[in-house]
Amino acid sequence: MATNALQTALDQFDLVADRLNLDGGLRDVLRSCKRELIVHFPVRMDDGTIRVFTGYRVQHSQARGPAKGGIRYNPAVDLEEVKALAMWMTWKCSVVNIPFGGAKGGVACDPKALSASELERLTRRYTTEISILIGPDSDIPAPDMGTDAQVMSWIMDTYSMHKGYSIPGVVTGKPINIGGTVGRRDATGRGVLFIAREVARIQGYPLKGATVAVQGFGNVGAVSARLLAEEGCRVVAASDSHGGVYNPGGLDIPKLLNHKQESGKVSDFRPGEAVSNGELLELPCDILVPAAMESQITAQNAPRIKTRAIIEGANGPTLPEADPILHERGVLVVPDILANAGGVMVSYFEWVQDTQSFFWEEAEVNRRMETGLVRAFNDVYALSQREEAEMRTAAYMLGVQRVVEAITTRGIYP
Ligand code: NAD
Repeated sequence: MATNALQTALDQFDLVADRLNLDGGLRDVLRSCKRELIVHFPVRMDDGTIRVFTGYRVQHSQARGPAKGGIRYNPAVDLEEVKALAMWMTWKCSVVNIPFGGAKGGVACDPKALSASELERLTRRYTTEISILIGPDSDIPAPDMGTDAQVMSWIMDTYSMHKGYSIPGVVTGKPINIGGTVGRRDATGRGVLFIAREVARIQGYPLKGATVAVQGFGNVGAVSARLLAEEGCRVVAASDSHGGVYNPGGLDIPKLLNHKQESGKVSDFRPGEAVSNGELLELPCDILVPAAMESQITAQNAPRIKTRAIIEGANGPTLPEADPILHERGVLVVPDILANAGGVMVSYFEWVQDTQSFFWEEAEVNRRMETGLVRAFNDVYALSQREEAEMRTAAYMLGVQRVVEAITTRGIYP
């Protein structure tokens, strides 16, 4: 998605800016990223050679608070992609009303091709290069594709070594023993459950007994499937990168989780029949949760999708041209910036706990996330009804409007 992600982000923004009648100057402010840093830095490889890597850190907006956004290690990372992802983070934090702006970072590399010690040296040097931007009050990274809790630990340690004391609040998604929060690992999937409850309520059926299909069985997909099954849903299909499995009577999710852990895939789980990832999207169900990757629902398959609602666990699973087709067919689409925001909400709670050096019980983390996410869902739903707009448009309108209000209240310096 690297080359056209920025164009997509700008097109989406322009559409919403038109609906909000945004003034031309404010439009330009929000179409631009506040800061864009590109760093080229050397890393000594295990065989003694030196390789130069390119990394990025972009802050789109800090109007509502410190910038927040993940760090991606992937060969396709480039400035345009990072800018688009930073802009999306601004809207995501704003729509769920947490006091953060948007940022994103990344290093163009293949983390699977690096040894653990190479990855550590790369991370520590990249952290040092971007340390002129990041900090607990300015810009707080988190994991994204290709990075994990271990990478966050190295970032936190490197930043702290430079300052001379421990600063856990510089990153979120850390291990619990160094200032991470309980509830972070399940947060995005749990958020999907809270959204599913609201969807069933407004569509007028009990969530217990509702049928669900989940594409992707990783952090977001597997947790969503487990929690929805515990809620009494019939999870009829699940998939991973090898393909999927379908059982209209409902899959035994605890057994499927074990099977995935042992065999590495879900497609050969029985009882059930194998389906492709494309077929899974077109199965009849009440709720479809795409939780794998972007660009899965297209103008081609949208006319064949037989679900009442799509809850976007993944980022960008629906192409813009599929949205009007789904809308016309009465499929409710809960957009990614709302549907998967449970993760960033709990990241915010992690930062709050680090800042106060006071740690909460998991029940409190979950309760606060539920309150915030349900409120955001209902705000967006009400706006979509009032404006006769899709949920995606309404979510962007709400997110953009709050950032505009913050800029207007603060005024343009000097
Ligand atoms: P993950 O790596 O844990 O899991 C991804 C899953 O998708 C795996 O089961 C993988 O096998 C599967 N997959 C990969 N390619 C596929 C394909 N072509 N077809 C079907 N399945 C495929 O990743 P994750 O953390 O669960 O993230 C999934 C999506 O959710 C991404 O879009 C991510 O940006 C988004 N997201 C994640 C979080 C979070 O907290 N982890 C938060 C917000 C958004």
